[in-house]
Amino acid sequence: MSTATASRSTPHSRKPTVTDQKMFIGGRWVDSVSGQTFETHDPSTGEVICRVAEGDAADVDLAVQAARRAFESGPWPQKSAAERGRLLHRLADLIEQHHKELAALETLDNGKPYAVALAADLPLAIKCYRYYAGWADKIHGKTIPIEGPYFCYTRHEPVGVVGQIIPWNFPILMQAWKLAPALAAGCTIVLKPAEQTPLTALRVAELAQEAGIPDGVLNVVPGFGPTAGAAIAAHPDIDKVAFTGSGEVGRLVMAAAARSNLKRVSLELGGKSPNIVFADADLDAAVQGAYDGLFFNQGQCCCAGSRLFVEEKIHAEFVARLVEKAKKQKLGDPFDLATTQGPQVSQEQLDRILGYIQSGREAGAHLLCGGHRVGERGYFIAPTIFDNVTDDMKIAEEEIFGPVMSVLPFRDVEEVIARGNKTFYGLAAAVWTRDVSQAFRVANSLRTGTVWVNCFDVFDAAAPFGGFKQSGIGRELGEYALSLYSEVKTVTVSL
Ligand code: ADP
Repeated sequence: MSTATASRSTPHSRKPTVTDQKMFIGGRWVDSVSGQTFETHDPSTGEVICRVAEGDAADVDLAVQAARRAFESGPWPQKSAAERGRLLHRLADLIEQHHKELAALETLDNGKPYAVALAADLPLAIKCYRYYAGWADKIHGKTIPIEGPYFCYTRHEPVGVVGQIIPWNFPILMQAWKLAPALAAGCTIVLKPAEQTPLTALRVAELAQEAGIPDGVLNVVPGFGPTAGAAIAAHPDIDKVAFTGSGEVGRLVMAAAARSNLKRVSLELGGKSPNIVFADADLDAAVQGAYDGLFFNQGQCCCAGSRLFVEEKIHAEFVARLVEKAKKQKLGDPFDLATTQGPQVSQEQLDRILGYIQSGREAGAHLLCGGHRVGERGYFIAPTIFDNVTDDMKIAEEEIFGPVMSVLPFRDVEEVIARGNKTFYGLAAAVWTRDVSQAFRVANSLRTGTVWVNCFDVFDAAAPFGGFKQSGIGRELGEYALSLYSEVKTVTVSL
């Protein structure tokens, strides 16, 4: 029996109570080898939710051994592709049955409004499992007409034991993006949730077991980055590591992968996404899209539209409408259904974001609203909008990962394309205009993995997502993600 269960007797629009958590290795709930535990906190109060077994290199090693055994023997390699698909569907069903409980756990651990977890995080995660359930028996190679008396074909085989390191901003969704394609492809997994938000990963592991996913196929080792995370990146018996997080850590992961065993690496890193609004845009839609594109999830999105380029002609009206929206937000208890903005995830993030706000002030950006912490308890920051930001300011160059918007006025399309691309990031972008030619021109010219036209943050399990330049390597979601978890084998048969 797992301890990773929110009390089911609690109505889930209210805070669940959670007991201390173990880790999940080889289908069993175990303490860490060291016996160490760490606290996970409720960001809306700063209070301890519970203690969690703290994995490090020794636990990662046990998890890798379990995953290796499950990959090579036991029921998993014997399962047909269709059966893997059925198991993924069953897991999706169980997550759906428990969606309120999981949304409540996510809110408790991460701080995001419960209404949002229920309306966005859970449905997107469930759809992701179902999408890859459908792929499981459609992953196949080709026959290739090579020269000579041969029959040549390719097989797409699972890459093997996969290490997955995920962040705290969308815990259950990031699990789905990583677990679903890896399981569909037939891999086995060692997953490390972020130390700030380990709870839903542990509960999903329990549901995976209930769904019938064999022991050892999915192992969850909570712990810190420099210990458990680094041990995954450096483990010689992990065949592939998938990481989502900061660019700084992405480099460490890649270097450790290179040093240890050249394991395959995919990275989804940060962004500084340009969101470009032309004067001819549908302004109601653009104001809403610009606001949500930055402030959604308390600004803690790698694709946040954190450089808002607004054409000069509409600039004054546009920022006035943004400020009006910011002033209407309700910050507070994320379990209150009227709350629109929750706390930041941790004290560390709160301090970092306040540091960026300070740097914006010092650089001479015009602070239109916010700019301060709200309350003494929990990690709340008032929605903050800086106007007349210039490209060289730190707040325009670096990822803030908080509710801080930078507005940058522009004059024409050439200028805004050049400025939009003037960054080492390349994750996402958006453009708002009624001029079709202009929309396509901008979409084709921006060096980013995703471009939204007259919309923002439209995600679908079928649509690939990932970064150009230093925003990452590889694409998650869609058919493309399957290649992250498979090897192509060429077989040539003499006729
Ligand atoms: P953030 O700054 O948003 O917390 P990080 O990149 O630090 O992003 O963290 C993302 C994930 O990477 C978390 O699960 C974290 O524990 C993990 N991590 C942090 N440092 C390392 C490391 N040195 N090696 C591997 N994983 C790490």
